[in-house]
Amino acid sequence: MNKGRVFIISGPSGSGKDTLMKKVFEKAPDILFSISSITRPMRVGEVEGEKYNFISRERFEEMIANDELLEHNVFVGNYYGTPKAPVLNAVNDGKNMLIEVDVNGAYQILEKIPDAVSIFIMPPSLEILKARLTGRGTDEQSVIDKRLFEALREISCAKDYDYIVVNDDLETAANEFVSIMSVDKFKTDRNLELINKILNK
Ligand code: 5GP
Repeated sequence: MNKGRVFIISGPSGSGKDTLMKKVFEKAPDILFSISSITRPMRVGEVEGEKYNFISRERFEEMIANDELLEHNVFVGNYYGTPKAPVLNAVNDGKNMLIEVDVNGAYQILEKIPDAVSIFIMPPSLEILKARLTGRGTDEQSVIDKRLFEALREISCAKDYDYIVVNDDLETAANEFVSIMSVDKFKTDRNLELINKILNK
């Protein structure tokens, strides 16, 4: 059986990554999603086990010590990590898996899984990024400036990713994202089994 592929998705706050991912799952329901373990408090509307498992710092540190994580990072004072076993099991079962991580997590995954495909979600322009980060205008300017600084820091790493998807029109961006995942099945390393099977007969 061919192994599955890991797809990494990153993008700054203001890139519309979460909405885009929802659309992608509507269009490509076969892909598995890696549920991260995190220590930040649950936000209103979040559901345990949907996108995140909300765990204690003690449990997270135990996961680090037991080498249960593929990658982990501290983001605004909280731990975020990708449990290793579900990813490795999916890949060994020939299933594709999407992992959402910040740029730091992406670099860690690429070190361990060099053939992972990395996709960065970009806002269409600086003006639109600023407008999205300003949101409803309820946040203080210093908070908005901090978010913008973080977003630009992440965007400066976009050149290290395999693909860039610009999230201007949601439907278009989701179709582009799914195209990237679809084309992957034609790559030579996804077809070695067939080649070997034919040559061995
Ligand atoms: P939020 O708290 O807003 O849901 O996520 C904050 C940041 O953490 C986002 O950039 C998100 O992509 C990133 N993130 C989510 N899950 C993981 C993870 O498992 N590992 C790492 N390194 N980052 C993650």
